Amino acid sequence: MIDSSDKPAGILYVVATPIGNLDDITIRAIEVLRSCDLVACEDTRHSQRLFQAHSINSKTKALHQHNENHDSEKIVSQIKNGLNVALISDAGTPLISDPGFPLLKLAHQHDIQVIPIPGPSALITLLSVAALNTSPFVFHGFLPPKSKQRLHAYQSWSPLDSTHVFYESSHRILDSIKQLTEVFGGETEIAMGRELTKRFEQVFRGSAADLLTLLTNNPKNQKGEFVIAIQGMKNTVHSQLTNEQTALANTLNQHLPPKLAAKIVAEHYNINKKQVYEFILTQATT
Ligand code: SAM
Repeated sequence: MIDSSDKPAGILYVVATPIGNLDDITIRAIEVLRSCDLVACEDTRHSQRLFQAHSINSKTKALHQHNENHDSEKIVSQIKNGLNVALISDAGTPLISDPGFPLLKLAHQHDIQVIPIPGPSALITLLSVAALNTSPFVFHGFLPPKSKQRLHAYQSWSPLDSTHVFYESSHRILDSIKQLTEVFGGETEIAMGRELTKRFEQVFRGSAADLLTLLTNNPKNQKGEFVIAIQGMKNTVHSQLTNEQTALANTLNQHLPPKLAAKIVAEHYNINKKQVYEFILTQATT
């Protein structure tokens, strides 16, 4: 049961914390974590490193996937009784492949004020350096651990009409990229962020085939935490044409039907008409 008293209700802060480098935390996040009455942590011991680095002495409580269904109600009751509570996960933004969903759902049901304190997330960190189109992108969280289900997941993204981003574990990264290469082809443009913001940070941007070689050639490259992004077809079509070719296609497309514009560009540069036509079509929705 949710208690209530005459005291004004507190606030639930959802606070993003670093994904590796402990300095990647906002001033506001530190202030909130220092001043709240209780911090619900995915793992209280893990968060101690962060707390020590930033002199945070607030009381903590564990809230993880095994107790969140049960304990969220108690936290909501504490907030209704006036406590200010902050929710954090082990790394990055809570609820992004992390616990917190039951607590937030319950908090909204009870009209509790919820304040986000934004900060790092591995998927956005990778996209910020990947130079892949992000409009649109789809985030999948972790892919299924079993090879057959993962294959189905990859197949369901085909044709790639947007950039797809996902998290992958070190145990499965090699098999996963092998499978991805089989489904989408070795030429697929891909970005990998490994150990982002940490000592052995690695950012790869290139083809799926080259990423596979990188992972296969040195098993050390299979260690750590991974986030992967693959480019949607929309942009692959674009990247196969030169700037001059796309510029002419865009200009002609303003005055002529797409098919005719594509034909003229293709004949002028002696390139594939279908490729130019697909590019022109993608421009309508970019
Ligand atoms: N809430 C986190 C966020 O906002 O990114 C994600 C938590 S999820 C349990 C952890 C997964 O995120 C890791 O297994 C890895 O796939 C990805 N990840 C987290 N930190 C990372 C980092 N520093 N570099 C690359 N990937 C990372």
